[in-house]
Amino acid sequence: MSEPARANILLVDDRHENLVALEAILEPLGENLIFAQSGEEALRQLLHHDVAVILLDVQMPGLDGFETAALIKQRERTKTVPIIFLTAISKDERHVFRGYSAGAVDYLFKPFDAEVLRSKVAVFIDLYRKTEQLREQAELLAARELAAVRRESEERYRQLADAMPQIVWTTDPDGNAAYYNRRWYEYTGLAPATPRGDEWRRVVHPGDLGPTMERRKATLASGEVFEVQYRFRRADGAYRWHLGRAVPILVDGRIESWVGTATDIDDQKRIEQAQDFLLRAGSELHATLDYRAALRAVSRLAVPEIADWCVVDLVDADERPVPLALAHADPAKVAFARELQERYPGGPDVEVAAAVIRKREPVLVTEISDEALEAAAADELHLELMRELRLRSFMCVPVIAGDRVAAAITFAAAESGRRFTEDDLRLAEELARRAAVAIENARLYSEVEERAQAARVLEAVGDGVFLVDAQGRIRLWNAAATTITGLTRGDVLDRPAAEAIPGWASVAERVPISQLAEPVTSESVPLDLGHRELWLSVSGVGFTEGTVYAFRDLTEERALEAMRQDLVATVSHELRTPLAAIYGSALTLRREDIDLEEALRQKLLEIIEEESSRLAEIVNDLLLASQLDTGRLHVQIERCDAEELARGVVDVARTHLPPDVQVELEPPSEPIRPVAADTEQLRQVLDNVLENAVKYSPNGGTVSLRLSPAGTHLRFAVADRGLGIPVAERSRIFEKFYRLDPGMSRGIGGTGLGLYICRELVRRVDGRIWVEPNGDQGSIFYVDIPFATERQPAKRRPEKAPSPA
Ligand code: ADP
Repeated sequence: MSEPARANILLVDDRHENLVALEAILEPLGENLIFAQSGEEALRQLLHHDVAVILLDVQMPGLDGFETAALIKQRERTKTVPIIFLTAISKDERHVFRGYSAGAVDYLFKPFDAEVLRSKVAVFIDLYRKTEQLREQAELLAARELAAVRRESEERYRQLADAMPQIVWTTDPDGNAAYYNRRWYEYTGLAPATPRGDEWRRVVHPGDLGPTMERRKATLASGEVFEVQYRFRRADGAYRWHLGRAVPILVDGRIESWVGTATDIDDQKRIEQAQDFLLRAGSELHATLDYRAALRAVSRLAVPEIADWCVVDLVDADERPVPLALAHADPAKVAFARELQERYPGGPDVEVAAAVIRKREPVLVTEISDEALEAAAADELHLELMRELRLRSFMCVPVIAGDRVAAAITFAAAESGRRFTEDDLRLAEELARRAAVAIENARLYSEVEERAQAARVLEAVGDGVFLVDAQGRIRLWNAAATTITGLTRGDVLDRPAAEAIPGWASVAERVPISQLAEPVTSESVPLDLGHRELWLSVSGVGFTEGTVYAFRDLTEERALEAMRQDLVATVSHELRTPLAAIYGSALTLRREDIDLEEALRQKLLEIIEEESSRLAEIVNDLLLASQLDTGRLHVQIERCDAEELARGVVDVARTHLPPDVQVELEPPSEPIRPVAADTEQLRQVLDNVLENAVKYSPNGGTVSLRLSPAGTHLRFAVADRGLGIPVAERSRIFEKFYRLDPGMSRGIGGTGLGLYICRELVRRVDGRIWVEPNGDQGSIFYVDIPFATERQPAKRRPEKAPSPA
């Protein structure tokens, strides 16, 4: 046992020498002496020290001994401290009484007997020590009782903790587990033992270990409440979600321990995950019309939250599964599974999917038994490889879109240790329903798209197309149909065809109707729309909803055909006439039986010459027209003296005039500026118009040519008093091969090419040609040719002698 602490003795006397004397007397006691030279100082000293006994002088300036004692007695902490009064004078009874009533335990009179003083003080010290010891013992006892009580309550807490359905543990301030409750051992299957501190690491899901450790480190450092969601492995290997919470227990402001709980939130968590999965899968499925890509994305979403494996199979025409997607969170496992599928095609997974597709019913296997696995394996190796996958539970649902099974989705649980339940199956079925909607939407969309495309094609084709339903009403009418007939959609839609299209009734009788997939034949028929007649090539195809008619406009082809026939007649006539004349003249010249007069010989030779040149002219026109058609004609635009040209043309015309026709050039009222044209081509135009004017004036008359400016153009006007041209034919006479009188009832020949050539040549120099009536008789042909600009090159070719050939 250690030395008892030294006790304090307070010595109070106003006289220093008295204190020195007291010190000398009490020194041998070996206690701690505290000195004070006044009552006030004594009180001050008592504030700082616990003292065993006080020796107090009675006569002191300021507070005297009695007053000081009274104050000491008033204070709770000091009221029991024994006081020995020291006095030299007051020995009478009254004084002594006052001293005792002030709390004195003794009186000592100066001069003291050192021995007596020492022993008296020693007694009080002893007493003080005993009292102290007793107090300490009492405190110790109290502490022990408290510990017992605490132990008892801890035990009670433990029992409470053991009885709880939650997992409970406690740790030291550093987070090392010191206690786990019974539920912990039941859940984890670990054998109850004194905790080592880090058992929990073995049961937390590897995927959650990282975040848990981090959170734990942070809370241990900050002393905040620890809260985390993690999966704990159950005794059977299944992981279940738990909410872990640990709160620090503080003692004197320091963390003494942590109390933690883990609550099973697996059901809520699964519902949450399932809802989240359905939401995300739904948006994947709706985000695109490529349902294959969507199903692949869904399979990736399913792992690992919903299942460890997700497989999607589409369905072929034979109702067999065709793999589309295989997903697992670990790519290495996917590769392994694929290899397995390749090595053992048509494995148990394919068979399950095939059965689901055939029966249109889902399959749920909560626990894959060893026997089932063995039965499904093709051989020993297969069994071993399948065992490596550690499949425990699976479910497969059909995706029924419209009235056919479009796909099968399989979920399998493996290393997570999950067991699928009816709830999980409902989730899978819900997913299948959403997938079905997506597939159906994609199909509808592509159908609509196809139809829209078909409609666009129908609009774009050049053939008129329309649909007549079973009731004979027009249901569809494309743009070409409008262009060809002039009848708009509004005119015909929803109306009976026979009523909407004038003349249709008689056409419909003649159009052959083929059936779908049969070769289509068409018929050329005239359609009399009332205001005009069309030639159409019409075909019809009948199908369930009615008949589709397609028609092509042959009107122009017909007209061209007619013209071609006219041309053959005209040209052959035109060629035959000069040929006959040449042939006849030649024969006559060769006759030896008659002697021809020189004048007759000359006449015959003249005929041959003239008719040959007419033949050449016809051939030239045909050649030129074909050059214009094919764009091969070269045009050289230059400055050209129009007046000079006009004079030349008139002069040539005058050389072969019928006797009753005159040709005049009206003198211009002002000088004529040069025009921009190809001189030879312009000459040909004027020749032609002038020649026509002469030719179509069978009853004679004057043909005049007049030049006058018309804005930017010079206007040539050729007027005759001939046959004239009906209003309706004024523009048609400029068409190729068009002749007013193809049958030549008026007895005037021609190819119908002249004005066509004129129009094309004039067009090429930005000019214009047209015809107007010449008062009440004859016609005026106008030709406008632009004036030359300053920059126009001057004429380069030397003037050639005008020659029709
Ligand atoms: P062609 O004279 O060889 O028949 P054109 O192309 O020169 O061919 O003329 C076309 C048609 O225009 C002629 O067939 C004729 O009926 C009509 N025509 C041309 N010029 C006149 C005219 N001055 N007066 C009356 N009819 C004319």
